[in-house]
Amino acid sequence: MIMSSFAYIACTCCGKEYKLDTWQQRCSQCRGELEVRYKFAEPGAVRKEFLSRKRSRFILQRYSCCLPFNFKRLNPALSLGEGNTPLIRAAGSNDLGIDIYYKNEAVNPTGSFKDRGTIAGIHRAISLGVKKVGTVSTGNMAASVAAYAARAGLECFVFVSKNIKEHKLASIIAYNPTLVKVEGDYGELYYRSLELGMQEGVYFINSDDLFRVEGQKTAIYEICEQLNFAAPDYIILPVSSGGNMAAVIKGLEEMHAVGLIDSLPQVVGVQAAGCRPIAASFAEGELNIKRFQNPRTVAQAIANPCPPSGRRILRKLLQGKAGFILTVTDAQILAAQKRLAKEEGIFAQPAGAAPLAALEKMVREGILKKAEKVVAIVSGSGLKDLSVINTAEADILESDFAGLRAILIRGKGV
Ligand SMILES: *Cc1c(COP(=O)(O)O)cnc(C)c1O
Ligand SMILES: [Zn+2]
Repeated sequence: MIMSSFAYIACTCCGKEYKLDTWQQRCSQCRGELEVRYKFAEPGAVRKEFLSRKRSRFILQRYSCCLPFNFKRLNPALSLGEGNTPLIRAAGSNDLGIDIYYKNEAVNPTGSFKDRGTIAGIHRAISLGVKKVGTVSTGNMAASVAAYAARAGLECFVFVSKNIKEHKLASIIAYNPTLVKVEGDYGELYYRSLELGMQEGVYFINSDDLFRVEGQKTAIYEICEQLNFAAPDYIILPVSSGGNMAAVIKGLEEMHAVGLIDSLPQVVGVQAAGCRPIAASFAEGELNIKRFQNPRTVAQAIANPCPPSGRRILRKLLQGKAGFILTVTDAQILAAQKRLAKEEGIFAQPAGAAPLAALEKMVREGILKKAEKVVAIVSGSGLKDLSVINTAEADILESDFAGLRAILIRGKGV
């Protein structure tokens, strides 16, 4: 924040306000999603500050004019080099006639965009004076929080669901958090962890924590800079809890409010057909979320059946016209994953390739027009889930030394 600005916390549902330094993660009145709000007293000053800090590679410092932290208390030593990810213009997929860019979040320190939110959450935890953090997650968020807690010397608790697949634990265990398999309703665990954490001095940096969301906005700031502040027509991203979609919409609205971009892109959230609680409500014009029964998708990073930020997203889409939600099938996701690797050299996990699958659907349905500019957010690395890659299906040649020359001439051959 800069001197002329002012930040506070507000409920996105009932509007109740809290001081910035209150430890509050859901609304005490209605359980609604909270957010940090700014009163930008002088948009011009924020704009100037934004443009002047380009040199810092530490995202919380670089974008401090639009973040709720005291600049002097930011600690670059806690950074693992999150953010600063490339925006890559499509090479191969360009035969669709669309101007496509990939924001490659897979190159973050623990392989997903979550690191942007985690560094913010860790700073929040420290500012509240706690020595312990936690998260409720099965995958990328757990690895991210555990890694940053290790870096900061904070004790870390990770709550996972009792029926988690064993192979998903490996990238979490490596950072040595206290890992707990919890029996019971996973959606309710989100709320319970916040409640218990507040009572016991453990700051839970869950999927849509209001400070996590602030950190995750920085991807949008980078995209705007990388496009020289010429906003794209669409930004497409995968959606599970809704936390990151909230961050994307919020980041864009703030950039627009201070005059750094002239227009607001449509934000397109992508859910898997096999787990589409937000998409289902959106299609019915319904502002509430119904728990999605029997979720099943290959894209495990977007398999939350009861998204804690679902209602907030629905309000933005149905009442605020910020964008829309699309669904794609697992087959479409896996095809997009292959295509992204084969044609662009970007290996995304299934959730990270879902935006490309959605983009292809938007072309087929005539939503996207030739020459429109689209940013697809590649949210996480393919290295996170190698179990979806079928090596038995790949055509792998075999040869002795004598056969190698012919292969070099023929290539993959037919
Ligand atoms: C967490 C995650 C998502 C979903 O983000 P939400 O904020 O929960 O909606 C999508 N892709 C990847 C790779 C993730 O790690
Ligand atoms: Zn409220």
